[in-house]
This record gives sequence, C-alpha cells and structure tokens, in this order.
Amino acid sequence: MKRMLVAVFTALMLLITGCQSSTEQGATKTTRKQLLLVPADAINQQSAQAYRQTLVKANRMHRLDTTSPDAQRVLTIAQRLANQVSVFRPDATQWKWEVNTIKSDEVNAFCMPGGKIAVFTGIIRKLNLTDDELAAVIGHEISHALREHSREKVSQQLLQQGAITIVGVATGSQIHQGMAALISQYLFALPYSRTMETESDIMGLELMARAGFNPEAAPNVWRKMAKLQQGRTPPQFLSTHPSDQTRIANLEKALPTVKPLYEAAIKNAG
Ligand SMILES: [Zn+2]
Repeated sequence: MKRMLVAVFTALMLLITGCQSSTEQGATKTTRKQLLLVPADAINQQSAQAYRQTLVKANRMHRLDTTSPDAQRVLTIAQRLANQVSVFRPDATQWKWEVNTIKSDEVNAFCMPGGKIAVFTGIIRKLNLTDDELAAVIGHEISHALREHSREKVSQQLLQQGAITIVGVATGSQIHQGMAALISQYLFALPYSRTMETESDIMGLELMARAGFNPEAAPNVWRKMAKLQQGRTPPQFLSTHPSDQTRIANLEKALPTVKPLYEAAIKNAG
C-alpha cells in the first residue's frame, strides 16, 4: 500500500514539476512535454565551463579563427538566428550567447546549453556550405539549446539510475557534488534521441526562415551530409546526426509552413 502511494505521489509530482515544455510552440508547433528534473543552472554552469575549456585549447593550438571570411559568416549568421529566438523562448534573449569558429578538419558544430556556439571550419569546407545551409546547421544546433535537450537527456539518465528522484527535486533538494559529477559525466556523452533531432530540425527550420534564410537549404544540407557519409571515414557529426530520407522528408513537409515566414522576413529586410 505504502509503495503504491509513493508511486502515485511520484507520478503526480512528475506531472506537476517534471514535465514541461522548454519552449513556446512557434508556427511549426513543437509541444512535447519534457522531463526536466536537473536544475537548468547546473547544466548551464557546466556547459559554460566546458565551452571555456574548448576555447582555451583551440587558442593554445592557434585554431581559434576570429578573422577569416568564414568566421565572419558564422558570426553574422548566428547573430541573425539568435535575434529570432524570442518566438520560442523570450528568456533566451537574455542568455550570454557566444559564437566561435574553430579551424579544424572535423565536420562538426554545436550549441551548448545557454547559447555557446562553436562551428568547425571542416563542416563549412567539406560540405561547401552556402550562407543558407550554414544557417540551417547553426539553427538546428541553437534549437537543441532552446529545447534544453541536454538537460532532458541528463534528467532521464539520472532518473533511470536512481541517482535523482522526482520527489527530491520537487521538494527543492540542492544539487550536491556527487550529482554535479554525474551531470558532467553525461552532459556531452549521451547522444540526442531521434525525437530531439526531429524537433531541432523543425525548430531550426523556423528560426532560419524568420531570420531571412531560405529554408529550402535545410534538406540540402542533409543531402550533402549523406554524400559525405558514403566516404571511408564518416564525419563525427553524423554519428549523432544520421542523415536519412525520413529526416529530409520531415523537413520538406514543414517547408510550406515556414516559407511565408521567410518571405515576410525578406520583404521586411528589403
Ligand atoms: Zn542535432
């Protein structure tokens, strides 16, 4: 009986506190409720620290690119995209956004929780990305951060392990040191689920359209990725971002919804 009561209480607390959507739905209507048990602060602090370490390391190796035309493109495009985030979450306009380009053959790009963006020159060069295509990549990564997918996957993992309880979080228990270590262990190690990938694809598509980038470029990025995938050493980005027909088809299905946003953005700019 007692066990049952605990289970019912847990389920109730999950409904009350754990499940929420990190974002507003936008025109493309992402509404999935998420399990966000770990405090956002804990995730953001560790992400900021990891980002700093990445930059220090890149700088030490003279790989921080602040001057090249590609670095300029990354900065301009990321800023235009970040200017649109209030549609999905007004609080993100207050984030301490950072944008950096790293000289590396690696085909990679990410946006850590809290808006810490890094683009590797390898992804630009090996895919020969146009501005619109680069906007699709960065918009996708920004969407992972807006949706707090990292916080969600860490929450899921810790709950599964019994390292965190919904009741504990609901009653406001603090993150202790052991928990912080667990968070850092999982923060960047766990891949995003396919559901998360789809959400970021669609939200990214809307972001780029609102920022005045042609959304038709997004499916094209994944076509280029698929071509690259056929090579001998598939790029790291593809281990977490499989490019397949479903992904491309989902993006194309969403195009009619975001096209008017793109056209309006172009009209306003012109
Ligand atoms: Zn992704």
